[in-house]
Amino acid sequence: ASFKELGLAEWAVRTCKELGMRRPTVVQAHCIPKILAGRDVLGLAQTGSGKTAAFALPILQRLADDPFGVFALVVTPTRELAYQLAEQFRALGSCIYLKCSVIVGGMDMLTQAKSLMARPHVVIATPGRIKVLLEENPDIPRLFAKTKFLVLDEADRVLDVGFEEELKVVFQCLPKNRQTLLFSATMTSDLQTLLELSANKAYFYEA
Ligand code: AMP
Repeated sequence: ASFKELGLAEWAVRTCKELGMRRPTVVQAHCIPKILAGRDVLGLAQTGSGKTAAFALPILQRLADDPFGVFALVVTPTRELAYQLAEQFRALGSCIYLKCSVIVGGMDMLTQAKSLMARPHVVIATPGRIKVLLEENPDIPRLFAKTKFLVLDEADRVLDVGFEEELKVVFQCLPKNRQTLLFSATMTSDLQTLLELSANKAYFYEA
């Protein structure tokens, strides 16, 4: 299939072409139509498979149709990954004037709080820092009250015991009817549990 046949809009198809993405990868071909259709997704796919664009493209398309508030929250285990994700989101979202904030440890918290208060479309965060901001600043949780997408990137690592507490805080701030997209290198029992809590009919993709 082509990107167009997956249901992507003209601007998104053009952006892919400009970025040298000639054809969808396998994970993109499977997941993009399901995400556009409103399904939750658990995708087992490795880095390098094109999994980032598999969730970023349909999120950006839905956002372009109806932009409001913080539209998507992407949680990833490390700072490095957060910056890489932001780079891909910005490249794919350049022609819709995407506003994207990276919320990770080691950076000034006041600056981060201000950047959230400016209501970026997409927030890309590590679990520890987003938890602290949600708990310490009473104005921040409400920014996520209408968020449409939660993505757990490298979900097997995010769901490590160490981040359980952090995720609980994140889940509490998000609406129940959001779409949840889990991308992971491996299947774990935690992922199984999360999938069972899924609010929408979940689609399971395995490479
Ligand atoms: P990821 O698996 O998301 O880490 O992506 C790995 C790399 O593949 C990134 O640098 C993307 O820019 C690139 N990429 C993603 N989708 C495609 C595609 N359909 N065609 C060519 N390159 C792609």
